[in-house]
Amino acid sequence: MRKLFYNIGRIWGVESVPLAYKSGNEMSVVDAVDNAWLLAEDGLIADWGAMASDLPAADQSLDCTGMELLPGLVDSHTHVVFAATRTTEWELRLKGASYEEIAAAGGGILNSAAKLRVMDEQRLYDESLERVLRMIAHGTTTLEIKSGYGLSLESEMKMLRIARRIGHTVPATVKTTFLGAHAVPPEFKGNREGYVEHVIDTMLPAVAAENLADHVDVFCDRGFFTPDETMRILAAADKLGLPAKIHANELGLTGGVQAAVKAGAWSADHLEHTGEEEVLVLRQSQTMPVGLPGTSYFLGIPYTPGRMLIDAGLPFAIATDFNPGSSPLCSLQMAWSLACTQMRLLPSEGLNAITLNAARALRLEQICGSVARGKRADFWLTRTRDAMNSVPYYFGVNHASQVFILGNLQ
Ligand SMILES: [Zn+2]
Repeated sequence: MRKLFYNIGRIWGVESVPLAYKSGNEMSVVDAVDNAWLLAEDGLIADWGAMASDLPAADQSLDCTGMELLPGLVDSHTHVVFAATRTTEWELRLKGASYEEIAAAGGGILNSAAKLRVMDEQRLYDESLERVLRMIAHGTTTLEIKSGYGLSLESEMKMLRIARRIGHTVPATVKTTFLGAHAVPPEFKGNREGYVEHVIDTMLPAVAAENLADHVDVFCDRGFFTPDETMRILAAADKLGLPAKIHANELGLTGGVQAAVKAGAWSADHLEHTGEEEVLVLRQSQTMPVGLPGTSYFLGIPYTPGRMLIDAGLPFAIATDFNPGSSPLCSLQMAWSLACTQMRLLPSEGLNAITLNAARALRLEQICGSVARGKRADFWLTRTRDAMNSVPYYFGVNHASQVFILGNLQ
């Protein structure tokens, strides 16, 4: 099946020679074609060109007059499978309690875990799927989903099964991450070592045996898991063939970035606290730094110094961290705007951060993240003119008029 999209005002994010990712100055480069057509064949991008050239033959043609086209957005870090909002805690925070104080009082992740454990699997699936569909409506065509609100073998498996099921239901690419080491559950209170052993000896092998996870993540931070514990968990994951991603440096300079690089993690996420040493370590690695501006916005904590990382020559990606406690954000368009206004990324750098570099954080850059021949025909159309600059500028609305995955309208 050949589908021709024609009269496109502008295609943003085309790559004639696809890169694995963009770093430093390259991040402000976004190639575009004006008055263009794009041909999708069997779900993949076959070709594109200017309307002035001869149009290729197709089985179906779609007139895109008045629209601009952007590559499908890639959300490399979400916790979209969750049981309930945490609006009560939000109010406590608004009255002055800190995220860590709420966590220490049994709120936070443990609150989400308690609710998730008792929730019926079908209902959890239905509500999570609804959120994923909302993400897709905002232009997200590839996403990652973490476990980590189960914190027991049974409930972690339940979360991952749901994430996999969502991946089989929606045409978007869905990758899953086992985050058993998200917090210490009540059964292991005062016995973190016991829980680390449980994660390594029981949970990891079970998750791997059922092929429920594509990566393993650890919350390596103050009050959660130490760099040493993180390294042990990730070494065990590596033996099972599961690559690493890490929650690092959200709450302080706690060695999380160093642990991520040592473990060869595909990404180190959060990095609200990043110093010179972290930058040096990242520069000698293949680990993608990922900023989560929705979290900083919602918790009122510092923003990841994205500008500084890019100026240091590093690549940088942005994700939503969609979760009920610290970032109830489904829209990468809004994350893009926050990256510009709060981290001082240029709109072009922001677009690369939520497309190509985000794909790299999942090592999916060969199949998505830009408009390139042979990649998936995942993209969205907007009526917003000069979209690359205007989408993050006019924040707070959904600019996606139509979203296509594998060339099909969603
Ligand atoms: Zn997270």
